[in-house]
Amino acid sequence: MTDDTISPSHPPLEPSSSAISAEHWDVIIIGGGAAGLSAALILARARRRVLVLDAQQPRNRFAPHMHGVLSRDGYSPLDLVADGYREVRAVDGVIVDARVSTARAIADGFEVITESGAHATARRLIVATGARDRLPDIPGLADHWGRGVVACPYCDGYEATGRGIGVLVGSVAGLHKAHMLRSYSSDVTVFTGLVGSIPEEERLVLEERGMRVESRVVTHVVSEAGELAGLGLDDGSIATVDVIFAEPTLVALDEPLRQLGADRIDTPFGPWTAVDALGRTTIEGVWAVGNSANPAALVPLAAGSAATAALAVNGELVALDVAAAAERVAAKGVAR
Ligand SMILES: Cc1cc2nc3c(=O)[nH]c(=O)nc-3n(C[C@H](O)[C@H](O)[C@H](O)COP(=O)(O)OP(=O)(O)OC[C@H]3O[C@@H](n4cnc5c(N)ncnc54)[C@H](O)[C@@H]3O)c2cc1C
Repeated sequence: MTDDTISPSHPPLEPSSSAISAEHWDVIIIGGGAAGLSAALILARARRRVLVLDAQQPRNRFAPHMHGVLSRDGYSPLDLVADGYREVRAVDGVIVDARVSTARAIADGFEVITESGAHATARRLIVATGARDRLPDIPGLADHWGRGVVACPYCDGYEATGRGIGVLVGSVAGLHKAHMLRSYSSDVTVFTGLVGSIPEEERLVLEERGMRVESRVVTHVVSEAGELAGLGLDDGSIATVDVIFAEPTLVALDEPLRQLGADRIDTPFGPWTAVDALGRTTIEGVWAVGNSANPAALVPLAAGSAATAALAVNGELVALDVAAAAERVAAKGVAR
């Protein structure tokens, strides 16, 4: 998988430097994808001092277009982020190109340390670091990731309408995806070689719905002029497909949350950070949003969860400021 970062149209980022340690921020946001930037926009517009530290590798950077995002259907994911950077900066949010390596609680909030050694502290911490996709280890598969090889029917199913769809299932539960994809095309082949064998009844139901079940093992991806052309099978034959829906393993990029000791819960995607409906983790003052909180969140939900959390974080900071003022009033001995 390539390691490309934000597109050249992206405004230059401030270098990670000790300048970020010059103030105690209201909120530090780790991660500047759809979620982190949505939280930053709302908090900066609420006149909070917001610092976003972003390693600039949004999960969907491999895809030229994103779908199902109202008013941005077909828009480039990297352009969305670039727009977000501009919008956050326009309201005085600070965004720095940095990867956080350490997060810890301190007396009056939290401290983060970047890989380059810069320190920053804040009253509240929002983690929006997301997740990464680990593809099955099939030669050539990663070369087409985000284009000819995709994962999400809601994101890319419509574009596969009427085309030759290959579904590379990695588990029996993954057969559900094949059944979803049947809505888009009558030419669907389900490759079950990664699973070993699937229950006979499952196979019969797939076939009853007009899908082919291919149990030979996929050995490699066949490309022609850089485009996906098919899947090589272990008997030397080639199955022609136009698009492959794979079942990558989602890996949480939750190092900061684990360092802070946030509880995790079991999900169908594996252990994931536990949050309440507002995005609060089990560590007071630490919030998780987007894919950091919900592995299934697509862009609108990632942004929405971050907006929800941002309102709650600001509400909490206002309440703290009011409580501090009330204490000062009490200390002055003002009669009630
Ligand atoms: C190929 C592909 C296609 C997709 N297509 C669609 C689509 O069409 N429509 C749709 O709605 N969804 C789509 N998605 C899902 C989409 O990618 C996610 O919903 C979205 O990226 C979640 O946003 P996020 O802000 O939580 O995480 P991300 O967008 O992944 O942003 C996380 C950010 O945090 C940064 N980060 C991570 N760790 C650190 C650290 N330690 N320090 C600092 N920064 C850090 C990352 O570099 C990244 O910039 C697709 C996903 C993939 C893989």
